[in-house]
Amino acid sequence: MVSLSEVSKLYAGEVAALRGATMEVGYGELVGIVGPSGSGKSTMLNMIGTLDRPSGGTVRIAGHDVATLTDRELSALRASTIGFVFQQFHLAAGVPVLDNVADGLLYSGVPLRRRRRKATEVLHRVGLGHRLDHRPHELSGGERQRVAIARAVVGDPELLLADEPTGNLDSKSGGAVMTLLRDLHQAGTTVLIITHDRDIAAALPRQIEMLDGRVVHDSRADRVSTW
Ligand code: ADP
Repeated sequence: MVSLSEVSKLYAGEVAALRGATMEVGYGELVGIVGPSGSGKSTMLNMIGTLDRPSGGTVRIAGHDVATLTDRELSALRASTIGFVFQQFHLAAGVPVLDNVADGLLYSGVPLRRRRRKATEVLHRVGLGHRLDHRPHELSGGERQRVAIARAVVGDPELLLADEPTGNLDSKSGGAVMTLLRDLHQAGTTVLIITHDRDIAAALPRQIEMLDGRVVHDSRADRVSTW
């Protein structure tokens, strides 16, 4: 699903956010990405999400070498394959929950009625079927993040990328969000989660550890003797 080989990223030509990051994630895995602040976790997730292009090295997503795709092809790959969840939720203020989620299909060519029907289904799935007409400010943090997850998965992406999804939540709401991410993984989605929470990371089946722009440890390597 994801393959990074010696990926580097220089910002403004000098700050090296990534310095030769290499890793592979198979279809259907659930992986935690851990490491101190500034170690390059978000930059790596942006590379995997094809939101940004690397300065060097190779990024392959679902078999596509990102460097060979035009911006239009990249957008299409992103829209069809990848869902994003962020610490700050990034919901549209004043817009009903139903349309916040339906808008996740805005660029897919699906007509409005079907977008809303699909959004309703997904909101029921995340336990928010009774909140369709609420505005984001009328919801708790945990509920907002579940709306954001619903929006991320309304297009059935194969890959879900979450950057500190529980970072703004109390432990109970954070637990509910993690349960939801696990359910999506159980249903077959490949899920990558950046977290600084050691307990959350330890509970995931695989952890990839970053330091100074590189992958310095991969728990899969502990269990698998040959790569
Ligand atoms: P993490 O997610 O592990 O906290 P980041 O990937 O956000 O790390 O950042 C890695 C390094 O790259 C940091 O030194 C950060 O300041 C720098 N960096 C990240 N984004 C940018 C940017 N847009 N412009 C310049 N430097 C950046």
